[in-house]
Amino acid sequence: MTNTSNSDNISFSSRESVGLLTPEADTSSRGFQPTVVQNYIEGQWVSSLGTEYVDVINPATAKAIAKCPLGTQQDVNTAVKAAQKAFQTWRQVPAIDRVQILFRLKALMEENAEELARLCTLEHGKTLVESRGDVRRAIQMVEMACGMPSIMMGQGSEDIAAGIDCYAIKRPMGVFAAITPFNFPAMVPFWFWPFAVASGNTFVLKPSERVPLTQVRIFELIEKAGMPAGVINMVHGSKEVVNALCTHPDIQGVSFVGSTPVAKHVYQTATATGKRVQALGGAKNFMVVLPDAPQDSSVKTVLESVIGCAGERCLAGSVIVGVDDAYPWLEAGIVSAAKAVNIGDGLEPQVNMGPLISQQAKERVLELIQSAIDEGAKILVDGREGVEHLDGFFLKPTVLAGVTPNMRIAKEEVFGPVVCLAQTKTLDEAIAWLNSSEYGNTTSLFTASGAAARKFMYEADPSMIGVNIGVPAPMAFFSFGGCKNSFFGDVKAHGKVSVDFYTDTKVTVQRWFKNSSIW
Ligand code: NAD
Repeated sequence: MTNTSNSDNISFSSRESVGLLTPEADTSSRGFQPTVVQNYIEGQWVSSLGTEYVDVINPATAKAIAKCPLGTQQDVNTAVKAAQKAFQTWRQVPAIDRVQILFRLKALMEENAEELARLCTLEHGKTLVESRGDVRRAIQMVEMACGMPSIMMGQGSEDIAAGIDCYAIKRPMGVFAAITPFNFPAMVPFWFWPFAVASGNTFVLKPSERVPLTQVRIFELIEKAGMPAGVINMVHGSKEVVNALCTHPDIQGVSFVGSTPVAKHVYQTATATGKRVQALGGAKNFMVVLPDAPQDSSVKTVLESVIGCAGERCLAGSVIVGVDDAYPWLEAGIVSAAKAVNIGDGLEPQVNMGPLISQQAKERVLELIQSAIDEGAKILVDGREGVEHLDGFFLKPTVLAGVTPNMRIAKEEVFGPVVCLAQTKTLDEAIAWLNSSEYGNTTSLFTASGAAARKFMYEADPSMIGVNIGVPAPMAFFSFGGCKNSFFGDVKAHGKVSVDFYTDTKVTVQRWFKNSSIW
């Protein structure tokens, strides 16, 4: 469990393990100090005004590796002031020049990708392969935002009436902010700021207080890429910082990613002060397997979806529905594959699943597993066993069978490596069940039938659909986000549409009268 502490006596695992930031980078860096994470405001690394700290814990060892300050309203005010000041000049920099900094950042992130991935694993626990994916996705967002000169182009028509022309241009609006979750320490902040900044806005990021280190190292690279002071700022913290961002009069819009209750809170608080908001919340994802689906690849893909990143993904499969004759082979395949998963420290190459983020997260998942058993589900693979000797927050893949719509585990987000197996007679029954969920992030169908896939795409509610794909994550050039209690707002994250979130469309209608006799 992350614990709040004012003590300086936190035991660090070792200087080297904290400094997976390389020793060279560490000595030259002002950003990362081994004990306390710093804010980045107006191009300077500065101490937070907060007096409380959260331990940043390596979930594979349960040891504290740094301290993250819980920032204050005053920290936010200073960052927003810097961003507001920088906006006056940044908005006048041509887009083609703004993106040169992003091209340099892309090169720096490529050069440092392995170091970033190791840092991500160290503070989050996911495997190195998964962390490399996390960093790759972040880089792809930068690549997409490098196209901003053409992405943000407007529209125009001549002669909308006789002799009258009309032009619509997309203009930056000012300061934007993002509040991000623990589960993708590298990627999620990049869903937002590259698009905001490339389109001429300035930015304040509040990363998760549980995983601030990857972003600290990335901000060092942003600085090295030549980003002007104040264009992008970072304030660490929790509730107080979030509420200050949501209510600050000089912030134009807020992007949020995290659990549904906080997403709702951010949406309500920030829209109440007139801001644009896109708030991405939690999920409950169903995967439906038809009898005609290819058996081996479907089993492998379904299990990977549920246990990848230890189940801590908003696109993770949770309830796995075998339709009719698909069920027996699906159950047998999942049980045998789940037993073969090798858990451990994500830095070890042979490990294919890391720990959960915290003891508290683990206890939540254990409680949900128990509730399912109490409500009549059968435990086929008990991931609670065989982890007692490990220091970290480990849970092995767990397989439950006989899960039914009324069980808590069928309704609540688990965010852990738990396969909830269920059976329906028909595809219609499976679609009706998944559509009854309060969430609408993603769902997948496994089949060899185009007609079944078309029906599924047409009738299933969630906004992101997979067909024979377990984690249908849209790439940087598409947009990302769900519906129902998985998303609050209208414009989704990244992709071309995100420019609409970060710009105001200004329309000019013009007519000119001839006042010369020489032309
Ligand atoms: P979280 O809601 O606990 O925290 C997210 C952010 O909100 C953090 O920066 C945190 O500091 C802040 N926060 C937490 N409690 C707060 C409060 N009471 N008031 C104000 N701010 C608060 O989420 P998490 O545990 O970091 O992330 C896991 C959740 O994120 C899961 O529900 C997952 O589904 C969701 N998620 C969704 C998506 C998506 O695309 N929909 C993507 C990733 C994660």
